[in-house]
Amino acid sequence: MIAVLGSANMDLVATVDRAPGRGETVTGRDFTTVPGGKGANQALAAARAGGDVAFLGAVGDDDFGRRITALLAGAGIDVSGLAVSDRPTGTAHITVDATSDNSIVVVPGANGTVTELTDAHRAAVDAADLLMLQLELPLVLVTQAARYARERGVRVVLTPAPAVPLPAELLTAVDVLVPNEHEAALLAGVADPVEAAHALAGRGGDVVVTLGARGALRVSGAATTQVPAFEVEAVDTTAAGDTFAGVLAVGLAEGLEWPDALRRASAAAALSVQRPGASSSMPDRAEIDAFLA
Ligand code: ATP
Repeated sequence: MIAVLGSANMDLVATVDRAPGRGETVTGRDFTTVPGGKGANQALAAARAGGDVAFLGAVGDDDFGRRITALLAGAGIDVSGLAVSDRPTGTAHITVDATSDNSIVVVPGANGTVTELTDAHRAAVDAADLLMLQLELPLVLVTQAARYARERGVRVVLTPAPAVPLPAELLTAVDVLVPNEHEAALLAGVADPVEAAHALAGRGGDVVVTLGARGALRVSGAATTQVPAFEVEAVDTTAAGDTFAGVLAVGLAEGLEWPDALRRASAAAALSVQRPGASSSMPDRAEIDAFLA
């Protein structure tokens, strides 16, 4: 089983010709609400890929929270560890202009109330083969969860996004660190992804740096492996990284060898970038199998 402790948000997306300046009002073209948050996205990607997943976090007692919970439960995810908070469900207020540039305000809301490991969290981690974490919940909680999992021999996979300096206490409890190249550069303090990956692997454990259309690379000890991307026509790369991480976790939890787990993750991400949207673009297990056949 895979436990995902992370954020759940409703993305409120307005498309505009031009983003408003200070004090200005502009008329938008379109508006959509899309369930998101890196935690919920990774949980969905893993569940679609056939993983047995429990999602741990918090939503508000509101329509957004109920919609996110229904989406996760409908994908077969155990939501018994998803608390209902007295704060509103987290939201991301996104404005996308005609050049595809965006500006985003994130209001953590209920996500910010997950500050301590609860008995429900501990029980889920105890039952898990692998714990997935990101950095959209309070850092103290993420650190506490990683250390708890490490003590119990549960493998910890961390996507360090959004990138912030990480305490050694957290880094040393992580088995697999999955940054994109920007996060890797920021965390390691070097721009070159291979150098950054080696620097981050110095703590022990594996590092998988995702490089967008250029694929990914894995560093384990002194060894570097390149993971090519599949050549596809990308229309929307939103949540490619979360799809990659979720499907990688499923492979590792199922005991696949690293090359096979990475290949499945790349295939799933390549399938997702060919379709618009985040959760709506994530492939299911049969699609991944067919793509690789
Ligand atoms: P996001 O923030 O949009 O979720 P990310 O920056 O975390 O993305 P990326 O490094 O862009 O993650 O992409 C993750 C993986 O998705 C890559 O390692 C690759 O396997 C796959 N991928 C991304 N873009 C493409 C593309 N254009 N074609 C094929 N595969 C892609």
